[in-house]
Amino acid sequence: MKTVSQISELRAQVKTWRQQGLTVAFVPTMGNLHAGHISLVAEAHKHADKIVASIFVNPMQFGVNEDIENYPRTMINDQQKLTAAGTDLLFTPSPDIIYPKGLAKQSFVEVPNISDGYCGESRPGHFRGVATIVCKLFNLVQPDVACFGLKDYQQVQVIQRMVVDLSMPITIMPVATIREESGLALSSRNGYLTAEEKAIAPALHQSLHWLGEQISAGYAQQDSIDFIGLAKQAAKTINDAGLHTDYLHVCHAQTLQPASEDDTQLVILAAAHCGKARLIDNLQVKLA
Ligand code: AMP
Repeated sequence: MKTVSQISELRAQVKTWRQQGLTVAFVPTMGNLHAGHISLVAEAHKHADKIVASIFVNPMQFGVNEDIENYPRTMINDQQKLTAAGTDLLFTPSPDIIYPKGLAKQSFVEVPNISDGYCGESRPGHFRGVATIVCKLFNLVQPDVACFGLKDYQQVQVIQRMVVDLSMPITIMPVATIREESGLALSSRNGYLTAEEKAIAPALHQSLHWLGEQISAGYAQQDSIDFIGLAKQAAKTINDAGLHTDYLHVCHAQTLQPASEDDTQLVILAAAHCGKARLIDNLQVKLA
C-alpha cells in the first residue's frame, strides 16, 4: 500500500488507474481503525478494482467543546491494518492541505432537513463539516463507489442525499455495523471507556433491541404503537444502567422524520453519554 499526503500524488495515482480502465472504491475514515473500518474495505473490494482509503481527523466536524486534539491517532497501526486488508492507496492529508485558507474562509456543503435533528441538534455544525469534507474528498479521489458504516446511520442518509442533490456520479454503499460480542458497536471512542463503563455500555444496544421487539410485536398484533412512550421506556432503561441518554427516537428509515402509524421501514436512532464517551447506535426495524 502506498501512503500519500499530497493532493498531486493522489490525483496522479488515480489518473494512472483510470487510464488503465480500472474502477476505484473509496473508504474515508478518521483513523484509529478497528474491525468496523476494515469491514468497509472488505465491502469496497466487492465493487471496484482499486481501493483508496483516507485518514483525516476533520476539524470542521468537531464542535468547540469537542476534544479534537485528543482524538486517538494511531497511524502506524492503521497502515498495517489497511495493508493487510488489501488497500491500494492511503491518503493522509494535513489540515492545511485540506483547508489552506482556514475554516472561517472555507466554502461548505449543507444538506438541509436530514442534518437538522438527532446528532445534528446535539452537535451543531457537525453534518456541515461531514458533508463538506466528504464532498471535498469525493472531488479529490473521484471514486466510482464509496463505503460508509451504518453505525453512523444519519451520516449515511446525509451523504446519500448530498450525492443525489448535487448529482455526484458515485454509488454509496452502506455497510452493516460490526459489534463486540456484548453488542456494543465498535467505535474509536470506545477507547475512552473505563472497564466499568465498558460493562454498562452494551445497555444502549440492548435497549434498542428491546424497543425493536416491542414495535414488531405491536405491529404483528395490529395494535396501535406508542412510539414515543416506548422510546421513553428504552431511554429510562439506558439511564438506569448508568448511561445518560442524549436522544432516542423511532423514525422513518429514509426521511428520519418521527415514525407514524403507516410507516413500515423504521430506524431507532440513539446517542448516550457513558463517562467521557458519547456513544451512538441505531436499529433498523422492518415491519413489512
Ligand atoms: P470514523 O473513522 O469514525 O469517521 O468512521 C469511518 C467510517 O467507518 C464511517 O463510515 C463509519 O460509519 C464507519 N464505522 C465506524 N464504526 C463502525 C462499525 N462498528 N461498523 C461498521 N462501520 C463502522
